[in-house]
Amino acid sequence: MHYDIVILGSGESGTGAALLAAQQGLSVFVSDYSAIPAKYKMELEKQQIPFEEKQHTQEIIFNAKEIIKSPGIGEHVQMIKDLRAKNMSIVSEIEFAYRYKADSKIIAITGTNGKTTATTLTYEMLKHADYDVSMVGNIGYSFARQIAVKPTAWYVIEVSSFQLDDIKSFQPDVAVILNITPDHLDRYNYKFENYTQSKFNITKNQDENNVLVLNKDDEAITSFLKNTTLTTNPKIQYFSMRETVQHDGAYISEKEMVLKQNGEKVSININDISLNGKHNQQNSMAAGISARVAEVRAEKIRESLQAFQSLEHRMESVASIRGVEFINDSKATNLNSVWYALESMTKDTVLILGGVDKGNDYEQIAELVKDKVKAIVALGEDTTVIQDYFRKLVPVMEAKSMQEAVVFSFEMAKKGDCVLLSPACASFDLFKNYEDRGEQFKLTVKNL
Ligand code: ADP
Repeated sequence: MHYDIVILGSGESGTGAALLAAQQGLSVFVSDYSAIPAKYKMELEKQQIPFEEKQHTQEIIFNAKEIIKSPGIGEHVQMIKDLRAKNMSIVSEIEFAYRYKADSKIIAITGTNGKTTATTLTYEMLKHADYDVSMVGNIGYSFARQIAVKPTAWYVIEVSSFQLDDIKSFQPDVAVILNITPDHLDRYNYKFENYTQSKFNITKNQDENNVLVLNKDDEAITSFLKNTTLTTNPKIQYFSMRETVQHDGAYISEKEMVLKQNGEKVSININDISLNGKHNQQNSMAAGISARVAEVRAEKIRESLQAFQSLEHRMESVASIRGVEFINDSKATNLNSVWYALESMTKDTVLILGGVDKGNDYEQIAELVKDKVKAIVALGEDTTVIQDYFRKLVPVMEAKSMQEAVVFSFEMAKKGDCVLLSPACASFDLFKNYEDRGEQFKLTVKNL
């Protein structure tokens, strides 16, 4: 059988792509090397989309006109190497969905950290201004599913570098790169420049009518631009915490966040930003610029920033027990997010760190730890690296379960202190994923 489309991987994006392909009258087959989650299997069956699981049938895959590769599948997988060697057309789900976007407008947001927060903020601003808008990507529906099920006039898309690796024509009206720090390097031959390039793919098809929003304070972004000439010419708008931007963009001046669009300035008091921390001021500027480009009124932007509640597992305040505040930042799986978490702390902190270390250089947070952290609880199967590094700075205790971690932290904290779970590591030694880690933390805290 020669299918128009074969989809490798059947999570949210693979299944969304399958639904869209079928709806567009294309013949489509889904192949997953693992078991397909029951809810997706049911959907495929309902739409009579053929699929296989726990195997890849080569004859079907190699005979496809085009392959849609799920973001979780890396280049080291033999099947992908073979497909590349045969020069087959491989696209990502956002690329495929893009073909069916009609005349809708797209705001696409990438970066190492803050994607979900900035995407949600932008979506809330447009929604609050009564735009016909949806939020897609890693949050809620995949882009493809949204187009298949309920197309909207605007899409705010959270985009990972993996999705950007296989785009061909994807051209967002507004593209945002929040920041680039080392992460996921195992997928990029351990080369930071490859990861950076993949983030910059977001602008590869943009033209002079599109806007590229960049973080002016980010070293990787500015040095990339110094050493590389973009082959396209979008209007670049910077945001900065440190300096006034010359042209359109955003900056923080004293206590004001200034958004400049077409030379016109709008100021928002930073106390009106309900989310704490400098990282969230950056996310707010990026979202604010995107909303201004989309012509959302300043008032609506201000109101959205005031009303925004922190997202689950991201600096989420859990409870205050006998004067000790507990904060769940389980989504902090790399050091850069821990840096911003600590930077925003105003109380003495007991920090819970640990999990599967992706090669962290703890030097990056040493100063902040000296300044703000009174003790560390190292949680995980193997935390020797963390223990060895931090023992010279602060007391370190070892915990082998969330129960132990919470109890030890509570013992070391006193009234007025804070216990912060911001692990800097992946979670899959002791937990299913970061959500599971955060849920267990919250449950244990509530049972104290
Ligand atoms: P992503 O979707 O890119 O993983 P999230 O919004 O889910 O980003 O946040 C992930 C983690 O990074 C959280 O711990 C959060 O507090 C932190 N964070 C959020 N925004 C930023 C930012 N702009 N810079 C650094 N860290 C951030």
